[in-house]
Amino acid sequence: MSADEIRDQIGSYYRTLFRTWGTQNWWPARSRFEVIVGAYLTQNTAWTNVEKAIANLRSAKLLNVAGIRQTPLAELERLIQPSGYFRQKAQRLKTFVAFLEREYGGSLSKMFARPTKKLREELLSLDGVGPETADSILLYAGNHPVFVVDAYTRRVLARHAIVTDEATYEDVRELFEKSLAPLAESTTDSEDLSTQRLATGFANPPHAPSQMSAAKRTVLTQIYNEMHGLIVGVGKNYCKKSQAQCDGCPLQIFLPDLK
Ligand code: SF4
Repeated sequence: MSADEIRDQIGSYYRTLFRTWGTQNWWPARSRFEVIVGAYLTQNTAWTNVEKAIANLRSAKLLNVAGIRQTPLAELERLIQPSGYFRQKAQRLKTFVAFLEREYGGSLSKMFARPTKKLREELLSLDGVGPETADSILLYAGNHPVFVVDAYTRRVLARHAIVTDEATYEDVRELFEKSLAPLAESTTDSEDLSTQRLATGFANPPHAPSQMSAAKRTVLTQIYNEMHGLIVGVGKNYCKKSQAQCDGCPLQIFLPDLK
């Protein structure tokens, strides 16, 4: 396939999945800070474990910048233990709030007012923040227009012979951003997307709507938001690591050998 055909196909993935499943209600969180904590805690663990750790922090009233800063490390480790790698993750959360205090006076609004590229570089310089975590924070907490690439994204593209194992995170991110941007350009009013979301309903959403999933954002960030959630749906339900269960998968029509 040519580069143009690949970009068209990825745009078609979005249209097909969104038409089939509708909004995915990402990210399941009540605040920007909760998204950030979740982005750290979800590394190398299932989301159900993250939910337990977040529930512990919430019931201890520590799910905020001051709470993480003031809580002794051992206590923080105990609270987030369900998420696994809790010593490492507790230290990394401490590192993030120290960075936020030092650079932005503890203000997430000031931090997210930074240009996307500069803030991305800053986040990537922090201990424990790789591209997926940085982009999750930028997109889902900060409404910055970056696409989040995960293992599911790479798996789908590889099985459809669009990328090889040599493709880097940045290669895939750039490919998705270039492919999805035209969809936003053709949707001039963000209300169009809201209408579309209502029209498609909430078929098969993995999460209930949350304050953060319903937050006002641009059409482009909403498309990136939805596409990541939709790809997760494909990976969890059909394109599994051990085996691709293509029967019933909405992306089956794009399989190379069926075209
Ligand atoms: S399950 Fe099959 S059709 Fe669906 S994305 Fe994976 S390879 Fe494609």
